[in-house]
Amino acid sequence: MAILVQKFGGTSVADAARMRRAAQRIINAVKAGNSVVVVASARGHQTDHLVADALELNPNPPKREMDQLLSTGEVQSVSLLAIALAAMGYDAISMTGSQIRMVTDSVHTKARIKSIDAERIHKHLNEGKIVIVAGFQGIDEFDNITTLGRGGSDTTAVAIAAALGAKECEIYTDVDGIYTTDPRIFKKAVKMTQISYDEMLELASLGAGVMHSRSIEFGKKYDVRIHVRSSKDEIEGTIITHEVPQMEGIVVSGATIQKDLAKITMVGVDNIPGNAAKIFAHLAKAKVIVNDIIQTEVSPEKANLSFMVAISDLDSTREATASIKKEVNCQDIFIREDIAEVSIVGVGMRSHYGVAEKMFGALAEAKVNIDSITTSEIRISCAVDEDQAEKALEAVCFAFELDRPANLRKY
Ligand code: ADP
Ligand code: ASP
Ligand code: MG
Repeated sequence: MAILVQKFGGTSVADAARMRRAAQRIINAVKAGNSVVVVASARGHQTDHLVADALELNPNPPKREMDQLLSTGEVQSVSLLAIALAAMGYDAISMTGSQIRMVTDSVHTKARIKSIDAERIHKHLNEGKIVIVAGFQGIDEFDNITTLGRGGSDTTAVAIAAALGAKECEIYTDVDGIYTTDPRIFKKAVKMTQISYDEMLELASLGAGVMHSRSIEFGKKYDVRIHVRSSKDEIEGTIITHEVPQMEGIVVSGATIQKDLAKITMVGVDNIPGNAAKIFAHLAKAKVIVNDIIQTEVSPEKANLSFMVAISDLDSTREATASIKKEVNCQDIFIREDIAEVSIVGVGMRSHYGVAEKMFGALAEAKVNIDSITTSEIRISCAVDEDQAEKALEAVCFAFELDRPANLRKY
């Protein structure tokens, strides 16, 4: 029997009516002849509420305890879903991350999956059960509960699909697919029928909260087709898959805005071999994920080094850079928290010229100042003032006609 993995996000299991609707989707997949594994997120805003409860007691809660606490949201969802399915006459078993031996590293609040014991899931599927797994959580080698980072249930689902050899993973959410940009910010965004793993990985890493970026890495590596669709309507969503030749024809597939960032500039670092290595060794030791590194030589003796980090890593970054400041003879450290990044992504950029010019021109026309620019083969990102971010996104979306389906764009 084919194995299908279905993931239901927080909104899709938020109350009893939506739980029943999710349960009906699962039953439909069973009736269609699939062995079904379900991954569920915490209900509604449960994770946010748990975070708030912890912060009320301690502004700097121990990360291990945060994981222990946040994992309970998903545990409630999976048992309730199994209870709902039982009421509808179906045999389901709920499992926590530790019960399926979803082993991760020990980096609390942003752990990475190392292995999954697929046999534990197969055993229950072979008994004819629907297996419902708590998303977002795992266990480290010392039996501590870990979590995969906000939005991590997507990664649980795709990783399980990969471990079970499932060909498809359905992601049921509150939008009916992947749009050219976040439809909550740019109302005219349009839905895509398909998008490549590489583009989706860039979009997800650059702030498109619709998918957890690690899930796309698993999908690409283990060849899992990901179908992002609405838990409300039956209509087809967006397929995330390998690149096909016609994707090259679309110059810009999507745009994003990322706000929870800080930009660090280390001014006047001694321009000698080894200093950048020393700085980033300190950041790595503090488990900080660094993006958009720019180093500029300002004189034969001195260089400026800047990079972006997530706001959640800012305290660790402050400590790490302060502790290395003297050793690399850095004159000053500037930190900007009022910064956002607007990015465009598309595999077609590899073979089209004039894309950067068009983006910068659109921002100039909208009177948005560009703080810094970073690029990869398939993306261009501009750091801008946070209070201009929405305006910048809108300007860029209109410039690349992201308010129209790809086949109707002139560009
Ligand atoms: P879930 O709880 O189901 O995991 P999320 O809130 O994590 O749902 O993701 C869905 C949300 O992602 C949408 O409501 C939408 O506002 C946001 N989003 C951001 N970028 C995009 C995009 N490019 N396409 C679709 N949705 C997007
Ligand atoms: N419940 C977690 C969160 O809100 C994980 C998820 O929903 O994917 O981030
Ligand atoms: Mg999500």
